[in-house]
Amino acid sequence: MQEIKVTLSTALKQKPQDESQLGFGRIFTDHMFLMNYEKGRGWYDPRIVPYGDFSMDPAAMVFHYGQAIFEGTKCYRRQDGGLQLFRPEENLARMSRSAERMAMPHLDEETALAGLKKLVDIEKDWVPHQDGTSLYIRPTMIALDAQLGVHASHKYLFYIILSPVGAYYKEGLKPVGIYVEDSYVRAVRGGVGFTKCAGNYAASILAGDIAEKKGYAQVLWLDGVEQKYVEEVGSMNMMFAYGNKIVTPMLNGSILPGITRKSVLQLAAQLGYEVEEKRIAIEDVFEDIKDGRCTEAFGTGTAAVISPVGELCWKDEKVVLGDGSIGPVAQKLYDTLTGIQYGRLPDENGWIVKL
Ligand SMILES: *Cc1c(COP(=O)(O)O)cnc(C)c1O
Repeated sequence: MQEIKVTLSTALKQKPQDESQLGFGRIFTDHMFLMNYEKGRGWYDPRIVPYGDFSMDPAAMVFHYGQAIFEGTKCYRRQDGGLQLFRPEENLARMSRSAERMAMPHLDEETALAGLKKLVDIEKDWVPHQDGTSLYIRPTMIALDAQLGVHASHKYLFYIILSPVGAYYKEGLKPVGIYVEDSYVRAVRGGVGFTKCAGNYAASILAGDIAEKKGYAQVLWLDGVEQKYVEEVGSMNMMFAYGNKIVTPMLNGSILPGITRKSVLQLAAQLGYEVEEKRIAIEDVFEDIKDGRCTEAFGTGTAAVISPVGELCWKDEKVVLGDGSIGPVAQKLYDTLTGIQYGRLPDENGWIVKL
């Protein structure tokens, strides 16, 4: 591990007074972690500095060819005031896998994790206290070479910024409406769907806007080849409950291997649910919901943890799930996973990193 140099800010910001108004990703803390990379030299100069603007060459490759990847994880405050992270090393390992696909360098994961912990420790007073709030952690890597030839950059910047975020659900876990997208696709076989690259999000915004105008919270993506099989929702993996059985699309290279997905599947098995990863046709899902065999649908992701789905719309056909409140399977998984994350339940799988 490399030594991390710290330069503290001399002009600290005012912390948000009302934790019920935090929202998501609008406020940033006083410091950030930076680390540079140069081909032949590797990662160097890990440092924590006051949060502030970057100065970059307008030709920097990130602006033109989009070598940009990111991660998202959280720091939680326990009832005793102590702080803890949830599987942060999984995020850094995933970032290295994203990097490989984008012809970017593997992270120095050890130094990045040390930097992440040190940064959160410096910013510990920014971790909110109210139930359901947390400090969102956003590691990012971008290409810096100032040249317009289409090649992998030789220079990169890795950085981490922090944002206190509010409870995702202000009025409890209310099911949302989801629009099944049947013209645009998010990812294709052989593409970059399994990476957390910025371009995947850029390509998804238009469909999201259209769905929102139709009154839906998010888009459910189908496979990019036949548009028949369920992939995932915006920034969440998708799960369906059939009574005591949970089914989810298998990892096929075009969906994002969510850490929440992986954790929920493991917890579900430990809680006695049957778990199956397979290819899921949207047509079958609609039939199964109409027949009452499929009893619940929900998304899984770091931001919302579990997001129940109350309605699906596909080619102007609508199906309704449940009675307008969260189903028992989603509720059990939500309570168990957030219980572990906030330290209310024992961490039997060794997922928690205490600070
Ligand atoms: C980040 C993300 C997820 C969820 O991953 P987690 O590790 O559970 O937060 C799911 N789908 C996409 C497209 C994502 O970018």
